[in-house]
Amino acid sequence: MSATILSGLVARAARVSRLVEKVKKLSYIPQLAIIQIGDRSDSTAYIKAKMAFAKKIGVDIKYTNFKETISQPEVLAAVKNLNVDHSIQGIIIQLPLPADIDRATIIEAIDPTKDVDGLTSTNYDKLLSGDTFAIVPATARGVKELLAYYLISLKGKRVAVVGRSRLVGAPIAVLCRNDGAEVMVCHSKTVNLADETKKADIVIVAVGKPGLIGADHIKKGAIVIDIGISKMPDASLKGDVDFEAVKDIASAISPVPGGVGPMTVLGLFENIIDASL
Ligand code: NAP
Repeated sequence: MSATILSGLVARAARVSRLVEKVKKLSYIPQLAIIQIGDRSDSTAYIKAKMAFAKKIGVDIKYTNFKETISQPEVLAAVKNLNVDHSIQGIIIQLPLPADIDRATIIEAIDPTKDVDGLTSTNYDKLLSGDTFAIVPATARGVKELLAYYLISLKGKRVAVVGRSRLVGAPIAVLCRNDGAEVMVCHSKTVNLADETKKADIVIVAVGKPGLIGADHIKKGAIVIDIGISKMPDASLKGDVDFEAVKDIASAISPVPGGVGPMTVLGLFENIIDASL
């Protein structure tokens, strides 16, 4: 039997009215500031998706596009201005940044209460310590919401998280553990990846290597969440999971595109609304 498709588009659409209601209850229109440096087409596409969703739920966007030649002190000054601007509830620096701009320095300059991508060390440390006021990275929040929408509980489950980046894999592992899962984190030094993922009831993959996870990595009936997105030479998007090979083994699987991507946008706007309350 073929797996249930965990559609981020369906799950997100079901949550939209809840977000619209929350925005209507505020006494003002929340505003998200987005800074883009340069003109990478993938970054521009992600920003457009965020703008479209913002419009749908009634959030304003203040978009600033700096030329790639901007200096680090100028970017820092822009972030600092947004920090003290009371009309702004959330700040996003669209990643990746040009090579001569230090990502950590810019991210750490964001006021943690406006860090709606959940990237500052203040929010990460809060997440690690189990502080419920931590702003959780949007993808991690989106994955949790996707599982919740399809009534998939993490409690007592064996979860393999493949990828341990600070932005994606690591926070997801923490959230799964906080929800009562037994979590194995795999990475580039994991000796036999398939041995580890095959033990898992839920496999969550965030690596960026198309087709890394195949039929040999998944036990029958497992749930597979594919976060990876890679642009192929023919401009199509591919996940880290070989969807065709795994869909007949897994009991449920998220597609790429249309799985975690839309839920990441949802997670971001959930963060903005929480920051606006
Ligand atoms: P990243 O910072 O490059 O981290 C990749 C992780 O994968 C690292 O922890 C690395 O291990 C691990 N890894 C590399 N090769 C491996 C292998 N052969 N086996 C097992 N693990 C391996 O990337 P990221 O920012 O976390 O993003 C990961 C993917 O998710 C990318 O495709 C990105 O585009 C996608 N993404 C999607 C969304 C979405 O909304 N759907 C959001 C964010 C990111 P080491 O730590 O040992 O180096």
